[in-house]
Amino acid sequence: MIIRNVRILGGEPVDIRVENGLIAAVTPAGAQPPAADDQVVEGQGAVALPGLVDLHTHLREPGREDAETVQTGTQSAARGGYTAVHAMANTSPVADTAGVVEQVWRLGHEFGHCDVHPVGAVTVGLEGRQLAELGAMADSAARVRVFSDDGKCVDDAVLMRRALEYVKAFDGVVAQHAQEPRLTGGAQMNEGEVSGRLGLTGWPAVAEEAIIARDCLLAAHVGSRLHVCHVSTAGSVEILRWAKSKGWDVTAEVTPHHLLLTDDLVEESPVGAYNPIYKVNPPLRTRADVEALREALADGTIDVVATDHAPHPVEDKETEWSAAAMGMVGLETALSVVQEAMVETGLLDWAGVADRMSAAPARIGRLSGQGQPLQVGSPANIVLYDPSVRTEVDPSAFASKSRNTPYEGMTLPGRVVATFLRGKPTVLEGKLV
Ligand SMILES: [Zn+2]
Repeated sequence: MIIRNVRILGGEPVDIRVENGLIAAVTPAGAQPPAADDQVVEGQGAVALPGLVDLHTHLREPGREDAETVQTGTQSAARGGYTAVHAMANTSPVADTAGVVEQVWRLGHEFGHCDVHPVGAVTVGLEGRQLAELGAMADSAARVRVFSDDGKCVDDAVLMRRALEYVKAFDGVVAQHAQEPRLTGGAQMNEGEVSGRLGLTGWPAVAEEAIIARDCLLAAHVGSRLHVCHVSTAGSVEILRWAKSKGWDVTAEVTPHHLLLTDDLVEESPVGAYNPIYKVNPPLRTRADVEALREALADGTIDVVATDHAPHPVEDKETEWSAAAMGMVGLETALSVVQEAMVETGLLDWAGVADRMSAAPARIGRLSGQGQPLQVGSPANIVLYDPSVRTEVDPSAFASKSRNTPYEGMTLPGRVVATFLRGKPTVLEGKLV
C-alpha cells in the first residue's frame, strides 16, 4: 500500500509505503510512481501523525453495554485517530483479577478497531480496602502495566504506598484519580465564585492538590512510578513541576475538556444554565487553571493528553444537575480540541502533539508497538488529519454509543481523514472501514 502526499508532523509532502504492517519507505511526494498492484490512498496534503494512544478510556464493557462496548468504544477511538486505548477498570465486574482483564483483552482482540490494553484495579472492587491481584494481572495474557482505581481515589496512604512498591517488580505504574474524598463529599462543581453564586457544593482545588503532593512524596520514598490522571488545577501543575525538578518518576495527563472549558459554563452556556453536559470529575475549573494547564502541557510538566472518554446513556445525563452522572465522551473530538487549545494558540506544533498524544502515553503504558515515529521500520500506526477545515460537532455522527459531548453545535478545527492500525485502515475518508 502507498499513502500518497502526506506531511509527517506537518513537514514536506511525502509518500509512505507500507508493507506487512510496517513502514517500508518514506520518499518525497511523487518521486516513486505506484506499482500496478499497489493499493493507493490519496493523502491530499494531510498531516500524518503516529496513531494516537489514550491512557484513559472508559469502554464500559463488561457491565454497562448500554453506554459503550469494546466494539463501539474502539470504533469511536479509530474515528478519533487512536490506534490504542487503555480501558479503565471501573467496569462491572471490576477489572481486579487476571480473569476480568483477560476478558477485556480478548474482547479487544476479537472486536477492537484499535489495540485495547486493560487497566487493572489497584484495590479489590475499587473499595480501597485491600490490594487487588496486581502481579497476576501483570502476568496474565493482558500483560497489565497500568493500575488505577479511577473514578475513586486510593486515599489510604498505606495502600497507595504498597501499590507503588508492588508494581516496581514488573515496571508497572499506579495511575491515581487524585480526589481527597472527605474534602469533596457531595461536591457538584468547582469551588469558587460560580459555585458560590449558584449555591452548589464546591469541589476545592486542594482536594486534588493534597493527594498529588502526598503521592509524589510516596513515589519518591519508595522509588516507584506514579502517573496522575486528569490534572485540573494550577496548583497541581506547581506541585508536579516541583516533583519533576527533584527528578522523581512522576507523569501526568490533562483531558481535552480541561484545556478548553471553564466552570462558568455551569452558570451560562449555549445550552442553558445547570446543564449536566458540563458535569465531570474532576470538575471544569477557572480560566486561570486552563491557562496553567496549557502552559504545563506545552513545557512538558504535563506529559500527556488523555481523553477520560466517559460515555453515559441519555437517561443518566439528561436529568437534574445533582442527579446526573459525571463525565463526557471525548475520543472523537480530542485531536480537534487539542488543535484549538494548543496548536492554534502556538503552544504546540504537530511534533508536540504527536509526543503528548502518542509517544508519551505509549511510553508510560510500556507499549512497544505504539507511539513510534513515522519512519522506516516502524509499525504503520498512522493517523491522517486535515487541520485546515472547521466543522460543527455533530454527535449523531459519533461511532460511540453515547452522545454526552459538551461540544455539540460548537465549531472546531480539523478532521481525522484516515487511521491505520499496523497498515490496515480502520478509518478512510472519515468513515469506519
Ligand atoms: Zn478519574
